[in-house]
Amino acid sequence: MSILENNPYRKDFPLIDQIVDGKRLAYLDSANTTLKPLPVIEEMDRYYRAETSNIHRAHYWLSENATNKFEETRDKIAKFIHAPDRKQVIFTKGTTESVNLVAQSYVRKFLKAGDEILLSQMEHHSNIVPWQMAAKEKGIIIKKIPINQKGEIIFDEYKKLLSDKVKLVSVVHISNALGTINPVREMIKLAHTYGAKVFVDGAQSISHLPINVQDLDVDFFAFSGHKMFGPTGVGVLYGKEDVLNAMDPYQGGGSMIDRVTFEETTYNVLPLKFEAGTPPIAGVIALGKSVDYLNHVGINRIMEIEHELLAYATEKLLSIPGLKIYGTAEHKASVISFGIEGMHPNDIAFMMNKSGVAIRTGHHCAQPLMDFFQVPATCRASFSIYNNKEDIDQLYNALKKAVDLFK
Ligand code: PLP
Repeated sequence: MSILENNPYRKDFPLIDQIVDGKRLAYLDSANTTLKPLPVIEEMDRYYRAETSNIHRAHYWLSENATNKFEETRDKIAKFIHAPDRKQVIFTKGTTESVNLVAQSYVRKFLKAGDEILLSQMEHHSNIVPWQMAAKEKGIIIKKIPINQKGEIIFDEYKKLLSDKVKLVSVVHISNALGTINPVREMIKLAHTYGAKVFVDGAQSISHLPINVQDLDVDFFAFSGHKMFGPTGVGVLYGKEDVLNAMDPYQGGGSMIDRVTFEETTYNVLPLKFEAGTPPIAGVIALGKSVDYLNHVGINRIMEIEHELLAYATEKLLSIPGLKIYGTAEHKASVISFGIEGMHPNDIAFMMNKSGVAIRTGHHCAQPLMDFFQVPATCRASFSIYNNKEDIDQLYNALKKAVDLFK
């Protein structure tokens, strides 16, 4: 049976069937953050209720239990993204911190004035600003990979930008603002022929596409737990081992050291070299449950479901007079960015909220992309495995009502 009619995954997400502010909730903001399935919530609860302790430091049962569970998540993640070794999985606060880590520890150390970094026009601010900050300090040049009106990278233009001066290419795997799936494998292959390293922002792709970092041959890959049914405040940086080993630590503090004296400090080995201080223990442990959940549903099934939701929603929305979709790439994930002629996105968001529809409105942390489309903001509906036909119909009906009112 169609997922639109009968969604067996809804029952796993306690929040989805709530009445919010007196209305049926249609949660269509999963690109912003996904809802959490029960095993993730229960694991967080278990840690705080019954298993709290710090990790890597003590020899009593609670601490060893927490350490084991924390490290088990590292194994699960390594397997999930096909990392060659668990030590290449570094826990961070999220994608943003992963980018900052590489900007601080790789770019500042290895790039020099006149070197170039390539970023696409559709990047999230967190995949622009950290590079910009390092570039400003070091005299590095940032160049923009152009996109077309469908919201796709213009591959020929990318080719033209590549040269021996390019030391890093950083590109989003799936655009949060458009849903475009970028041809990162081909981009990486080409960049490597010039000796450039490639960073892939996998914030959106981690729960929508199968990820194999070895097959991609990517140098760095980053993602956030909260966009893969996991908790906020935790994420991952994957890196190639030789590159991570060559980098200096990002932050100093406990856990990242080997030996400290006032004269000199030596650092720990991977991955702890990059994990200073007490990490988000509950978050990491619960993230292990979100990986279990993703494996339980299966990434191929997730893609099928989202494809069905996207196709139905696109058809419905395009029947609304004056509605324009931004981002019509051939390879696209379950995101619809749109505007309606004569209506400000904020007015649309206001009306959606009145109908219990949770969508995101704004620049989606992608102002250069908004500049490209010459709009200040768009509305964005994004779908995940817990959505159904009723959610999309609720969006459609609310939009129709808004259009009629503003006529
Ligand atoms: N990159 C993309 C494509 C995103 O969608 C997001 C979050 O919206 C980020 C980076 C930043 O992720 P976080 O805020 O979890 O660090």
